[in-house]
Amino acid sequence: MSPMQISVTPNPAPVDDARLAEVLAAPGFGTHFTDHMLTVEWTPERGWHDARVTPYGPLTLDPATAVLHYAQETFEGMKAYRHADGSVWTFRPEENAARMARSSHRLALPVLDPADFVQCVDALVEVDQRWVPDAEGEKSLYLRPFMFASEAFLGVRPAQHVTFMVIASPAGAYFKGGVKPVSLWLTEEYTRAGRGGMGAAKTGGNYASSLVAQQEATAHGCDQVVFLDAQEGRYVEELGGMNMYFLFDDGRIVTPETGTILEGITRASIIELAGKLGHPVEERRFSIDEWRDGVASGAIREVFACGTAAVVTPVGTLKHAGGEVAAPAGTGEAGGELTRRIRQALVDVQYGRAEDAFGWMHRV
Ligand code: PMP
Repeated sequence: MSPMQISVTPNPAPVDDARLAEVLAAPGFGTHFTDHMLTVEWTPERGWHDARVTPYGPLTLDPATAVLHYAQETFEGMKAYRHADGSVWTFRPEENAARMARSSHRLALPVLDPADFVQCVDALVEVDQRWVPDAEGEKSLYLRPFMFASEAFLGVRPAQHVTFMVIASPAGAYFKGGVKPVSLWLTEEYTRAGRGGMGAAKTGGNYASSLVAQQEATAHGCDQVVFLDAQEGRYVEELGGMNMYFLFDDGRIVTPETGTILEGITRASIIELAGKLGHPVEERRFSIDEWRDGVASGAIREVFACGTAAVVTPVGTLKHAGGEVAAPAGTGEAGGELTRRIRQALVDVQYGRAEDAFGWMHRV
């Protein structure tokens, strides 16, 4: 297929150097946006068309725009990293493209060809590359591709006008004061995904449904919420925005199987990496009883969670309505030994400090 034609209209008033330096010194998360955005439109007649990079700014939407009513939308989350030589890279962007295609299929949205997806992301990062922070302190440029039903129509059916966009926002390190274990709240009241539902899709509704459970977690003094399967209420699925891993004392690692969870790209990368480090990964159902008993007997050495934002985070205490499961014995102040090793290995590849043995990095 021929590459997509993307027009570029430069922002006539880009951020000045002094202000940009200030923002990049303390970016936080999701509050500052770059000078440009990318937009592509879709209709059944024309397919994807009118790809353009334009100055960042608000959208004007008809109040009847379908996404505002029926939440027909999908999104992705990924990052651009600056290497020591100044070059800018993304991590497995074709995996984000493939996941968005799967999500779009589930949400009855048109599929954007993965090559076009990568080209669109690259086009925005290229125009806004001065917004990619230096590697120091694990900073990055967070990228948010998203697709939504932009047709103004209140009938419940797949939209006949769809918009794909990419915006970008500099992000600071997830852990400000160094890596430390997160505490988890087990919600027994709320679930995020039923059989045949959209748990495996990256769509806003899943996050809307997680908020009340996350509120519950916060009210119990915990950092994050853990969801169980909807059918039996026994099997660990994932956190609100991260996948889970359990390390056993014989070296095996278990991660909940896919189907109703969001298949993380970090999760998939850890399966490959851990195998290379001599830790085969089992993808299977993992019950809350196995967690509790494994920690009590000492069979579980480390628990960690993973995702684009934090890369890998050690898991400490698990609280639930009936009590508490302590952090596994192998969890130190900054997490267990393997947790830290896997985290470091991924971060080193992302920032170009280690050989990219799996060919995961994509140069923008
Ligand atoms: N689960 C959920 C529900 C998420 O939102 C995310 C973040 N995208 C993840 C897992 C981790 O996915 P990834 O490693 O691709 O960031």
